[in-house]
Amino acid sequence: MDAQQNLFNTDPEPWILDDLDDFRTASIVFAEAPFGPYEYIIPPEMASSVLKGVRVQVPLGRGSRKVNGYCVEIDNGQKKPRSFDRSRLKPIANVIDEKPIISGSLLDLAGWISEYYLCPLGTVIETIVPAGVRSKAGTRNVVYLTVPNQVVAKLTQLQLPKKQAQALRIIAASPKALSIDQAAELAGCSTAPLKALCEKNLVTVHRERVHQNDHNLTGKAIEDDLALNPAQADALAKITQVIHAQQTETIVLHGITGSGKTEVYIRAIQEVIRHRKQAIVLVPEISLTPQTKQRFRARFERVAVLHSHLTPSERHWHWQQIASGQIDVVVGARSAVFAPLPQLGMIVIDEEHDGSFKQDKAPRYHAREVARKRAELSQTPLILGSATPALETYQKAISGEFKLARLPKRALDRPLPDVAAIDLRGEFASKTSRGGIGRQLHAAMRQALEDQGQVLLLLNRRGFATSIQCPSCGHVVECPNCDIALTHHQDTNRSVCHYCDHTILSPTHCIQCDFEGIRFAGLGTQKLEAEINSRFPAYSCLRMDSDTMQKHGSHEEALDRFREGEIRILLGTQMIAKGLDFPNVTLVGVINADTALHLPDFRAAERTFCLVTQVAGRTGRGDKGGRVLVQTFNPENPTIDAALGHDFERFAALEIPQREQFGYPPFRQLARIVIRGESEKQVEAFARQIGDRLEEHIEKDQLDVTVLGPAAAPITKLRGKYRFHLFLNSLHGSLLRSVIKKMTDQIKTPDDMQWIVDIDPLDML
Ligand code: ADP
Ligand code: ZN
Repeated sequence: MDAQQNLFNTDPEPWILDDLDDFRTASIVFAEAPFGPYEYIIPPEMASSVLKGVRVQVPLGRGSRKVNGYCVEIDNGQKKPRSFDRSRLKPIANVIDEKPIISGSLLDLAGWISEYYLCPLGTVIETIVPAGVRSKAGTRNVVYLTVPNQVVAKLTQLQLPKKQAQALRIIAASPKALSIDQAAELAGCSTAPLKALCEKNLVTVHRERVHQNDHNLTGKAIEDDLALNPAQADALAKITQVIHAQQTETIVLHGITGSGKTEVYIRAIQEVIRHRKQAIVLVPEISLTPQTKQRFRARFERVAVLHSHLTPSERHWHWQQIASGQIDVVVGARSAVFAPLPQLGMIVIDEEHDGSFKQDKAPRYHAREVARKRAELSQTPLILGSATPALETYQKAISGEFKLARLPKRALDRPLPDVAAIDLRGEFASKTSRGGIGRQLHAAMRQALEDQGQVLLLLNRRGFATSIQCPSCGHVVECPNCDIALTHHQDTNRSVCHYCDHTILSPTHCIQCDFEGIRFAGLGTQKLEAEINSRFPAYSCLRMDSDTMQKHGSHEEALDRFREGEIRILLGTQMIAKGLDFPNVTLVGVINADTALHLPDFRAAERTFCLVTQVAGRTGRGDKGGRVLVQTFNPENPTIDAALGHDFERFAALEIPQREQFGYPPFRQLARIVIRGESEKQVEAFARQIGDRLEEHIEKDQLDVTVLGPAAAPITKLRGKYRFHLFLNSLHGSLLRSVIKKMTDQIKTPDDMQWIVDIDPLDML
C-alpha cells in the first residue's frame, strides 16, 4: 500500500485510497476459445500472488464457469481512466502457481509470436511451456522435518517416549532436512512418533515439490579443441566480436558439407560460457542422434539434449534444470528455441534451411524467426549455419542485413566428391536395364563394394509401388479421403495413403472392371531394397525410412550398424541425406533427382538443390575419397547442374532474380490462408467471401498488398475435406497482418468450415 500511495503526487481523494486494492486488475488469456485477453479484478488477498506469468482460475461467461488462464499483464490502476466502470469486472477466483510458470522475457517473446503469426497468446504460451511442466509431471509433494535451534539446545533435557526421542535425535543430527519417509526409515519407526513430535512443536514441517527421479546431465569435457583452419578462425572472430559487443546480430555461417561448422559453434559457445552465459543449439529433429549428443558432451560439462522422446516428467526435470542455471548448452529441435535459460548468450541454428524448423500447427512459427527475435530481446548473436542456406537467409547475408562468414573448403583439405549426372533417358531406352538402378550406377556400386567401400542410395519415396493401376481400364486406386494415389507396401500387403494413413488390403483385381492382374507401378524404397538384394545378394543392405524407423532408437541402431561396416549398402529417404559423417562411404547414388523438381511450389528447385547437395556431402569424408552419381531425366536443368558442381552461389544467382520477379520471399512477405470443409462448393464460396473481404480492405486503404486466389489447393482433398487456398503478399508484413486481422474480425465462419492463416508458409500444397 505504501509504495502505491507514492504513485500519486497530490493527496489522493479518499475514495481512491479505499478502492486502491480492488482497482488493480490483471489481463488473463486462455489457451482455448474464447482466448481473451479479459480483465479481472485482483482481490486484495491475492495482491502479492497474482504475478505476470502465473496461472489463475477465473469465472468465465454468463454461467461463470471456472476456467484456467494465464496472467499476462497487471494494471495497478494508473492505465485506466477514472471513468472506468469496474462493476462489470469479475474477481480472480484462485491462483494456481506459486511462481510464474513462464519468465518475463519468454512472455515478451510469446507476445511477439502472437502478433507476428496471428495466433492467440494463450495458445502460444502453451506451445512455449511444455505440457509436462504445466502438469508438474514427475514431481510430488514431500514433507520435510527439521528441529528448531531452541529445541536442539535442550535436546538432552526432554522427557519423551523412547521412539520419539530416538527419531528426534536422528532428525536433529541430520545435516539436511529429512523427509517423513527418510526419518521413519532411519529411526526404524512408523510415522506415528513423528506426528507426535510435530504436535508437540518439537519439529517443524515444510512442504516442497520434488522430482521423483534425478537424471545426470553433468559430464566431463574429454576432448580438446582442434586447431582451427584460417576460414574457421575468421568465422569465429566474426562471432566473438558480436559476443563481446553484447549486441544482437545474425551471422550466416555458409560452410560446405564437412567444412567444420560444428567446431566453430563449439568454440563460440565456449566464449559465451566464459561470459557466464548459456547457449542454445537447434538442429533438425533427425540429427538428434547420439552422434550429435556425443560431440557436445565431449566438449562441455553441462549439456541438456532435448529430443522428442523425452517423457513429460523428463521434460519437466530438464526445464527446471535449465531454468535454474544448471545447464550451459541446450541442444534440441525446433521447440528448444524456448529453453528457459536464465542468461541466454547465443543461439545457433545448424542446417538452418531445414523445413522441420517450421511448426505445422498453430502457432505456425519458424524457429529461425523466433530465434532472431529472442536474440534481439536478449542482445545476443544468432548463428545460422548451412551448406545450403535458405534463399531468404542468403539474400539477407549478401545484402548486408546479416553478417556472412564462409567456410569454402572441407576441414583437413579433403576434396569435395566428384559428382556426375546419369541421363535416365539413355539408361532406360534400352530394354536390358530395368528397375531403379541404371547400368552405370550398378557398375559403380559393384566397384565400390569390391573395394571395401560403403554405398548410400537416396530415394525420396517410401513404400513399394507408388501407384496401383488397372492395366485394362486404367483405374488408379486412390484414397477415399484424399486426392492421392495409394502406395502399395509389400511387407504388409497393404495399400496406404501417405497423407492420412488410410489403409486397405492391397487389391488383387480391379475394383472397377474386375480385371485380374493389377499393376503395381512406381518405385518406392521397398521395391528398391528388393532390387538391391537381387542385384547384390552378397552384401548386406538396410532400408531407412519412416516405416522402418518407427521405434525410438532404431535410427541410431541402424547408423551404428552402418558405421561398424556390418551394413554395406544403406538406402533411404531424405533421412539419410542429413548430417551423417561416415568416412568409408565411397559412393552416393541418387536414384531419381527429379522427384521434387516439378511440384507446384516455388521452392521446388531449392529443395531439389538442397537434397542433392546434402546427400552428395555424405561421401569423400575419408582417405579413400568418394563419388556421387545422380540419376535424372533432366541433366540440363540448371538446378541439377548447379548441384552437380556443388555450386550454391550459382544456384542462388539463378534463383534469386526469379524470386524477385515473381514477388516471392525474401522480396515480398507471404501469407497463406487455407479453407477446408466437407462440401467443395461451400468451401469455394467461403474462400471467395474471404478473398472479397481482403480485397475490399486493400482497395479502401490503397494498400500495397496483392491477393492471389482463391484456388483449389494442389491437394484438393485431404482427410475427407476439400481445400481451397489464397495467398497474400506485400513488401511489408505488417500490412499483411492488419488486412488479415480486419477480415478476421468481420467474417463469420460457417459451422462446418475451418480455416487457418500461415505466415511465411513453407507448405504450398
Ligand atoms: P560440417 O558440420 O561443416 O558438415 P563437421 O563439423 O562435421 O563439418 O566437420 C567435419 C569433420 O572435420 C569432422 O570430423 C571434424 O572433427 C573435422 N574437423 C573440423 N574442423 C577441424 C579442424 N580445424 N582440424 C581438424 N579436423 C577438423
Ligand atoms: Zn488419405
